[in-house]
Amino acid sequence: MSTLKDKVAIVTGASKGIGAAIAVHLAAAGAAVIVNYASSKEGADRVVAEIRRQGGKALAVQANVAKQADVERLFSETKKAFGRLDIVVNNAGIGAAGTVEDNDDAEWHRVLDVNVLGIVRTTRAALPLLRQAARERGQAAIVNTCSIAATAGLPQRALYSATKGAVYSLTLAMAADHVAEGIRVNCVTPGTADTPWVSRLLDAAPDPVAERAALDARQPIGRLVSAGEVAAAIAYLASPLASATTGMALAVDGGMEGLRLRPRPAQP
Ligand code: NDP
Repeated sequence: MSTLKDKVAIVTGASKGIGAAIAVHLAAAGAAVIVNYASSKEGADRVVAEIRRQGGKALAVQANVAKQADVERLFSETKKAFGRLDIVVNNAGIGAAGTVEDNDDAEWHRVLDVNVLGIVRTTRAALPLLRQAARERGQAAIVNTCSIAATAGLPQRALYSATKGAVYSLTLAMAADHVAEGIRVNCVTPGTADTPWVSRLLDAAPDPVAERAALDARQPIGRLVSAGEVAAAIAYLASPLASATTGMALAVDGGMEGLRLRPRPAQP
């Protein structure tokens, strides 16, 4: 379904994982996509090649969302390539493990700088183009990749959860600020998703097989969420199909936030 025909979208952190799936999904729905990455040029080039193979339009642009000058270049290159912008998906993010005792101030600043201020910088740079889209084409949308960690207490994730709690609140505040301008702002709250990020966590675990089984079991659907499932939710929120939805968090978490189940019987 071409719900995003003639739209132009930026996806930050689109070289792999959830962001790569979002870029491919938005392009399949008809959008021209800027595939942003920080350092994985090869990954971003693969995503662009896949989109073009499917007949879509895409361009890879390197920009570290923690650097103001990079973000400004991301938007000037977008304008140069496509002349306009309708959708921003703020997906770039990094992890952090540990309790509140485990990370020093420098690490707190580093992770907040990407996960929260990264969204602030990209949104600030995007707003003039999004306002123009809303005025001229009636729609503009921002979708932030938040996390179940914003709304549920997960062990060993103090810093990461604080950043995602901020993303959740920022989503609501930005939605209120820009609703009158015709710009919708929403977020998704994925549960644990099967991406290179989680593969890295599993590789670092003492028993990766047991750790994977524990992560699967934590989600009521009994498995990790796929990057494609998160991408589909984001594509919906970014599209005119969600034109009356703003300031919302859409859970893509296998039931983790809302359900309270009895433990499953052990498999024979
Ligand atoms: P991956 O580590 O697989 O991919 C992260 C992406 O973000 C890469 O494209 C990476 O680019 C990019 N990125 C990282 N730092 C920067 C930066 N400073 N500037 C620009 N891009 C950057 O992660 P996931 O796909 O798993 O996660 C994507 C998002 O989803 C994150 O916001 C994460 O918090 C969120 N999320 C993930 C969940 C999960 O279980 N996987 C669950 C809930 C939320 P490069 O490769 O070039 O460094």
